[in-house]
Amino acid sequence: ITDEHRRLAQELAGKGVKYAFASWIDVLGRPKSKTVPIDHLPNLLAGSERYTPRGMGGIGVMDPVEDEVAGIPDLSTLKVLPWDRRVAWMVADMSWGGREPYALCPRSILKKQVAAAAELGFVAQLGVEPEFYVFKPESLQEGSRQLIPMAQSGEIKPSPAYDVETTVDSLPFLDKMASYMAELDFGLFSFDAEGGEGQYEFDFAHAPVLESADRLTLFRFMARQAAKECGLLVTFMPKPFADLWGSGAHFNMSLEDADSGKNVFREGTGNDAWTKLTYAFVGGILKHARALTALANPTTNSYRRLVPRLADGQISWAPTKISYGYNNRSCMLRLPANRPAVENRAVDSAANTYLTAAFMLAAGLDGIRNNIDPGEARDDLSYMAQVDSLPRSLLEAVEAFEADPLTHEVFHPNFIREYAEMKVAEWDRANLEVTDRERAAYLLNL
Ligand code: GLU
Ligand code: MG
Ligand code: MG
Repeated sequence: ITDEHRRLAQELAGKGVKYAFASWIDVLGRPKSKTVPIDHLPNLLAGSERYTPRGMGGIGVMDPVEDEVAGIPDLSTLKVLPWDRRVAWMVADMSWGGREPYALCPRSILKKQVAAAAELGFVAQLGVEPEFYVFKPESLQEGSRQLIPMAQSGEIKPSPAYDVETTVDSLPFLDKMASYMAELDFGLFSFDAEGGEGQYEFDFAHAPVLESADRLTLFRFMARQAAKECGLLVTFMPKPFADLWGSGAHFNMSLEDADSGKNVFREGTGNDAWTKLTYAFVGGILKHARALTALANPTTNSYRRLVPRLADGQISWAPTKISYGYNNRSCMLRLPANRPAVENRAVDSAANTYLTAAFMLAAGLDGIRNNIDPGEARDDLSYMAQVDSLPRSLLEAVEAFEADPLTHEVFHPNFIREYAEMKVAEWDRANLEVTDRERAAYLLNL
């Protein structure tokens, strides 16, 4: 316990802060923390709070006499929450018995890959484009077949994307978000009504991957809180209804030279300005795409988004094939015209940002180390392309995850076993369901 930390506690108390959280991240990407009165902040910073791993969100060793896991706060992440100024928030790393990184801690798993990039002389950057739905609580009433949006755009077809009136009608919520993000220095540069009624997207500055992942944690928390303040609900579920657009969270990843801070993916503009490193990075991600899907698309529902079309026939703009192209929005990986980053369009809004970024980065670095050839860029609507498909189900993805040697380099054996068991059980439960559609197809015909 240091004097500096005591002074910090007093300073925060003087501003009306009453509690501190040092949140570690569970496997679902949710922040978890005990609540510490602000005068105990110095103890919290010294690692006083310990946890039994059962709060991990479905995984965690279950030995009743095992040691506990300490949450070690990252003081550089401290912020007073704009939506509740009684709370000082930090992100924490989980540490086994306060000594070594806990094998199941998503943030520690990402840090290991950040270090691997640094060893090659790179700083990995990440920008995420989260999409999500905001809806009225009445939508949850039994039999409701849609999400009731806060702003009705009427019979706008094919979609309310970019619709200004919809956006202005939704400003009570959107403005709260924008203000909170300004206060938290997210570097917000735009937001819009997305393709589904009630669907929105916020775009903010990229940052080093760890910082970006911490931002996403806060972003989801913020969106839920801002919605509740408006009497609304938020969902990051990847595909709430078959005829609504899915919610993706495109991952834009790039590498900077650690010394110069210069982006190493593109020199100049145009399709021929991408560097050799970029193609190798793309090659690595494509090579490990099937395994990556188990993290980027972590729910049984995720696979209803990875389809060519919505139920009403519109193109989904979510990928189904392991492919890349220049500015091609139908491919898994896009090399966008307006920014020097590899955009991974497969990732959905349910993904744990830390785990997904860790494996995507590891895959890209594998590509660089082994100079993996990504093959030809595609310029067609890639859904019917004669190339390998992304996994069609959580089960297929988990099997690919377990089979990929890279998985065993990135994750501890306990993580792989527990994650796979949890996700297969999730698939099994969903698979037990006999649907109306199935009865309509088979009951009277078979
Ligand atoms: N909502 C689409 C998806 O499911 C993406 C739309 C876009 O290109 O922003 O990924
Ligand atoms: Mg979008
Ligand atoms: Mg995008």
